[in-house]
Amino acid sequence: MIPYGRQNITEDDIEAVVEALKSDYLTQGPKIKEFEEAFASYIGSRYAVAVANGTAALHLNALALGVKPGDKVITTPITFAASANCIRYCGGEVVFADINPETYLLDIASVRKLLEASPKGTYQGIIPVDFAGRAVDLESFRKLADEFGCWIIEDSCHSPGGSFCDSDGNKQRCGNGNYADLAIFSFHPVKHIASGEGGMITTNSEELYQKLLILRTHGIVKSSELFTNSIAFSGGMDSYPSWYMEMQELGYNYRITDFQAALGLSQLKRADDGLKRRREIASIYNEAFKGKSFLKGQSGVVEGHAYHLYVLEVERRLELYNFLREHQIFAQIHYIPTHLMPYYRQFGWKEGDMPFAENYYNHCISLPMYPTLTEDQQQFVIKTIMNFYEA
Ligand SMILES: *Cc1c(COP(=O)(O)O)cnc(C)c1O
Repeated sequence: MIPYGRQNITEDDIEAVVEALKSDYLTQGPKIKEFEEAFASYIGSRYAVAVANGTAALHLNALALGVKPGDKVITTPITFAASANCIRYCGGEVVFADINPETYLLDIASVRKLLEASPKGTYQGIIPVDFAGRAVDLESFRKLADEFGCWIIEDSCHSPGGSFCDSDGNKQRCGNGNYADLAIFSFHPVKHIASGEGGMITTNSEELYQKLLILRTHGIVKSSELFTNSIAFSGGMDSYPSWYMEMQELGYNYRITDFQAALGLSQLKRADDGLKRRREIASIYNEAFKGKSFLKGQSGVVEGHAYHLYVLEVERRLELYNFLREHQIFAQIHYIPTHLMPYYRQFGWKEGDMPFAENYYNHCISLPMYPTLTEDQQQFVIKTIMNFYEA
């Protein structure tokens, strides 16, 4: 059976986890800090905060940015629902804008149209997604966001190691914090780096970084400079006693465990090899499908693409999907547009609201894409697709 994506666990990974399990720490141990530092250095951001999963990362971001009931935030409908849900967790309103039909990414012109149609201050933030691994042009989004006083959360779950080219011709890595206020990653097994469950937030803002650390652990503060109760209250004499701590905000337990961080750290060492392999697989697919009449559209070679997914838009998608399954190839559909999920329909979203996203959904299919996909397996996938259309 050939899935659309899968993890790659090596003997080194297993050894790293076993070592962590034998250490003094199961959670909040030294591997977490090590993973954060290695990840920040890989991505090029100043700070990184490891958390329980990508969804927790999004929720913490929304909290750190102060999202509250009545706030309006713009995002794309072609993403995993969590990209939008984090705003709802804080009582904010999700406003969808359509995708660009060529890139499948949140269309900046549609976002501008929304922002310009209301008085400044109507919208608080924008959440672009590096969908499939294709990097959003965040330099342009930053300019637009600044014009309207918006923050940006970059959902980079699909794009660790991916990059876009800025206007000076420099490569800007997804999540490097140069443009977005905060970025998030997931270490779910289908993503580039697996830690079981796991996530990471990256940022260049010291202030947001400090907030995230506190919110990740129940809103508890442990350093005496930040205490607001008096020493007398704390039970100390000239200083706060060493057991003393304060819960100053309503935080959560969104910590990752030490052995998950050990796995993530071990996986991170092979991130570049995995990315290289994903790009090889993509170029073989690109070559095989070039100019084929069953394609509705094709992105071809894209500089900086991290290829979490390899997406085609095709004719007779359902029949192809079923045909592939009969041949033990489990392609997948990414994504059912979020605005048409029953939960979001209650806010008035309906068919026809996002024509490009909805048309994309009617034709898209994600082919097997993961570093351990063998050449033979990939050729079998290609041959099966060709047989379906050309037989
Ligand atoms: C996987 C994913 C998430 C959520 O990550 P989890 O670790 O599964 O919570 C959020 N956004 C996107 C785009 C994702 O692909």
